[in-house]
Amino acid sequence: MSINTTQLIHSLPVDPLTGSISVPIYQTATFVQDAPGVHKGFDYARSNNPTRAALEQLVAHLEGGTNAYAFATGLAAIDAVLKLLSAGDEIIAVDDIYGGAYRLFTHVYAKFGIKVHYVDTTEADNVLQYINEKTKLIWLESPTNPTLKVSDIERIAAIAKSFNALVVVDNTFASPVAQQPFQLGADIIIHSGTKYLGGHSDLVAGLVVVNNTELADQIKFIQNASGGILGPNDCWLLIRGIETLTLRVTRQCETALQVATFLESHDAVATVYYPGLSSHKNHEIAARQQNGLFGGVISFTLKEDTEAAANALVTNTQYFKLAESLGGVKSLICSPPQMTHKSIPREKRLQSGVADSLIRISCGIEEAEDLIKDLEQALVKAQVSATVTAAQAV
Ligand code: PLP
Repeated sequence: MSINTTQLIHSLPVDPLTGSISVPIYQTATFVQDAPGVHKGFDYARSNNPTRAALEQLVAHLEGGTNAYAFATGLAAIDAVLKLLSAGDEIIAVDDIYGGAYRLFTHVYAKFGIKVHYVDTTEADNVLQYINEKTKLIWLESPTNPTLKVSDIERIAAIAKSFNALVVVDNTFASPVAQQPFQLGADIIIHSGTKYLGGHSDLVAGLVVVNNTELADQIKFIQNASGGILGPNDCWLLIRGIETLTLRVTRQCETALQVATFLESHDAVATVYYPGLSSHKNHEIAARQQNGLFGGVISFTLKEDTEAAANALVTNTQYFKLAESLGGVKSLICSPPQMTHKSIPREKRLQSGVADSLIRISCGIEEAEDLIKDLEQALVKAQVSATVTAAQAV
């Protein structure tokens, strides 16, 4: 089911006090009470804030959940979910996981006794080899960052249910426009709101969305107890971004399919990872669970599989700006092994398909033909650089 934009943008009421059509920014630390504990639903801004409450209501609507909670970053949102666990609990996580999540699991939560099994979840049955009574979470990204692996969320959720484990889907890459994980059996959705939800590369934010009141109470408690909330100005920016989410993402997906098709035909390119291509290993699952929209991110490797060749390309694009992040209106390009995924040891990174020359691009809302021309000229420069390097080696 796709998002009804009419319902979405009218789900937030006009401000009852002033008629303001835009949600007001409540820039305040505290709220005056009539008597101790007698107030208008807000007492202290870490616990609740009307601008944040509006954003959280909007995101719950967007994902078809009961409640959403806004955090200072996507990683703070991931951190809040991990705080549901106790020492001795286990997680099964997709092997091609976002580098920051890997760092948090490995360097922070391992020492508190949380064990993580990294599994290729593109084959749902691989989960069966690791799942046991200690497994509390199955952590999926679909598509993954950066090799765009797609997992069958519905099938994995069915396995998880039989072991009473919760399925968490990091829906950052697909966005709610392309994928609605609760309809596929997920229990918790997280977002880096920094990416598609914000959509303009002008804020960092994270969201946890849940689908029942028991989990809602637990995450709300953790949000208040740990305090990593999103401030009111960023909540307002995120609301504004979400209002145009459907328009932006639909265009970004259409553009990405054209760009991926171009890259696949180029002789300097070795492999293109994009779930919308019929050559993608999990194209059929993606077509089934992603509303026919395959995302705005593409990764590819070069025939000259070196960081030097990747550098020659990523430093020569005009519209694709060299920067971490994705999902904004302006196109971005990066070298995950040297940037976003640097915290993953090379051997482990290669095992999960993140080759030295892997390049990740995020298509913005520019004209598709301009983006293709931009990549075309940069690929020529990368080819020239590879030829020079080969000649010097002789
Ligand atoms: N999840 C995914 C898939 C990401 O790509 C990122 C960041 O790139 C995060 C989570 C973390 O989000 P943030 O950078 O907002 O903390």
